[in-house]
Amino acid sequence: MNQRRRLRIQGVVQGVGFRPFVFGLAHRLQLGGLVGNDAEGVFLEIEGPDPSLQEFERLLRLQSPPVARIDAVESQPMEALGESDFVIVASSPARVGSMALVSPDQCLCPECRSELLDPGDRRYFYPFLNCTQCGPRFTIILATPYDRPMTTMASFVMCPLCQAEYRDSGNRRFHAQPNACAQCGPALQWWQDGIPQDSQPPWEQAWRHLGQGGVLAVKGIGGFHLACDARNPQAVARLRQLKQRPHKPLAIMARDLQALRTVASPSPVEEGLLLDRSRPIVLVQGKGILDLGTSQIGAMLPYTGLHELLLSQGPDLLVMTSANPPGAPIEYGHPGAVRAPAVLNHNRPIHVPCDDSVAMVFRDSPVLLRRSRGFAPLPLALPYSVPPLLAVGGELKNTFCLAQGKQAYLSQHLGDLQNLETLIVFEHSLAHFRTLFGIDPRAIAIDLHPGYLGRGWAQSQSLPLIEVQHHHAHLAALMAEHGLDTHQRLLGFCFDGTGYGPDATIWGGEVLWADYSSYQRLGHLSPMPIVGGDQAVRSPYRLALAYLWACQLDPCGLACERACPTPEARVLYRQWQLGRFVTTSSVGRLFDVVASLCGICQQVTFEGQAAMLLEACADSQERTAYEWDQRWQVSELLSQVVADVRNGVAAGRISARFHRALARAVARQASALGADRVGLSGGVFQNRVLLEACLQELERAGVQVLWHTQLPSNDGGLALGQIAVAGLGRE
Ligand code: ZN
Ligand code: ZN
Ligand code: FE
Repeated sequence: MNQRRRLRIQGVVQGVGFRPFVFGLAHRLQLGGLVGNDAEGVFLEIEGPDPSLQEFERLLRLQSPPVARIDAVESQPMEALGESDFVIVASSPARVGSMALVSPDQCLCPECRSELLDPGDRRYFYPFLNCTQCGPRFTIILATPYDRPMTTMASFVMCPLCQAEYRDSGNRRFHAQPNACAQCGPALQWWQDGIPQDSQPPWEQAWRHLGQGGVLAVKGIGGFHLACDARNPQAVARLRQLKQRPHKPLAIMARDLQALRTVASPSPVEEGLLLDRSRPIVLVQGKGILDLGTSQIGAMLPYTGLHELLLSQGPDLLVMTSANPPGAPIEYGHPGAVRAPAVLNHNRPIHVPCDDSVAMVFRDSPVLLRRSRGFAPLPLALPYSVPPLLAVGGELKNTFCLAQGKQAYLSQHLGDLQNLETLIVFEHSLAHFRTLFGIDPRAIAIDLHPGYLGRGWAQSQSLPLIEVQHHHAHLAALMAEHGLDTHQRLLGFCFDGTGYGPDATIWGGEVLWADYSSYQRLGHLSPMPIVGGDQAVRSPYRLALAYLWACQLDPCGLACERACPTPEARVLYRQWQLGRFVTTSSVGRLFDVVASLCGICQQVTFEGQAAMLLEACADSQERTAYEWDQRWQVSELLSQVVADVRNGVAAGRISARFHRALARAVARQASALGADRVGLSGGVFQNRVLLEACLQELERAGVQVLWHTQLPSNDGGLALGQIAVAGLGRE
């Protein structure tokens, strides 16, 4: 006696080959029925003998495609129809309240890769090949349900061969929406000085150009990269000039692990992360062969057919950095907008831009430093149910977050929300997320900072606004990431560069005792002056001078004094005397000051540069620390630093002592408050040396520590914390 059941499956089930998988499974078990996509996920009906139906439901979870993620299966009995055929039915149109999870872009799968490089295959050297297990998703989807007409592939009509694959249930490309070949799909194009050229295969042009030390813009999956031979210092210098990025470290893409190992020493865990489907940029230890800005190299492996093709000949290591001015969003539209004379372009439109993700390995586990391609728009789970809400995030490394129920959709990395370009991408991406997930926010969570562009934008939206203090948001993001519920409180250390305090000073070295609804500020670094406004933040020597004056320490003969032209010092001193300055408790600024005193950095061209250099020089053999405790007196710490500098102690030892002093003060504060668990959040904790030192000190004291792994600890994760605070008591 046959039975029939209706199943509803939620999770990452669209654009991951789920329907073809269900189709194959039903055929194997000789079940009748149907499967289709709708705006909430996958719906299906199965009919057959009861044991087969049970087996079907069991295997559904067990054997689903690796990129799929089943969150829930709802199964209901219904009347049998006597059906023995199984079919894939047309998708039903999107409804309001769409909860179908759209998959992130997927890296090229091994099967497609071997076709690409097989001279006998009809897709030999066709860079836009893909299948149900790989290819673009998030960046080409216009709306759900995920079907070809709803993607930027809509204008490419499949040729008969591709059609046949698409219809063949035994084929890897069965219902692969972006299926394409050289006959029918997107094509590469070589652009020179803003004009498309059509002589010879574009990839041959690219190999030659890169081989000759040229800089090339390459349109990838989520935008344009600037590429050049990473082993050619002149080429790298040219790229830096185009990118206007004199110092910031540049990422590389290696042909394979073997090529990477010639210039870096990735650990086995790091190699595993490099090969992960999300293909993030991974920070690995360099061998000092390439000069890319630091001893750490941000490296990644090819993740599209185009990258594989590009790296199959010519240089085996390419600098690969997003083609945009620093802080601006990645370019993704017209090749003319990219500042490079040579462009390897293609005609598949990118609907929303998506920059590369960045990760590091800490204590043998991955830690995300930037959550973007390969992760967005996968939702993060919230600890409690929230009404439809939007959070606009912070200013630097901006992401926004749309949430409803227990799902929070954190956007891809957008850039620094300080200019019109980023605001346009912010609005466009927000509209995209609203379409994909059908969330219509009823209120907007914003930062307290009166100068933030996101806040100004929110004020023009005629929706209720909910202010969330910056460091409270950092800590709430950490709590949400670790699934703390609404009854729990956490002692948090929030160390970052800048966050606006309710007392109108700049916070950034905060000890907070918080739950989602409120916080108490139990401690903070003693306030120090920032004399000279924004300029000071770009010139650590200015910060250092003012800090020394405030601490009644004599700067005479120190590196900061030598770096400061005398007239400038006079102006600064006058402003300091007149009290024309803001004060800050920022740990990020303290790093700048110590870096300046050590003489390792007097000018910065990107946020966190001085801290990065100070971390990089820390002497791992040094075992002592400056005496410091939970009173957080900056003068006490700096007097020891200055004494060491005057005694000619090496910068590496000063750096190590400074890192350990911070960790010691954290542990002492935790003990003084009797905490058995603490959280560490804020951008400063992307510093591995500091994070490790804090963990050692706290673990020695028997304190459990929570830190970020899934979410960046810097402002890239802020929006999730804003949601977690703003959603409380509003359902
Ligand atoms: Zn594939
Ligand atoms: Zn075709
Ligand atoms: Fe922050």
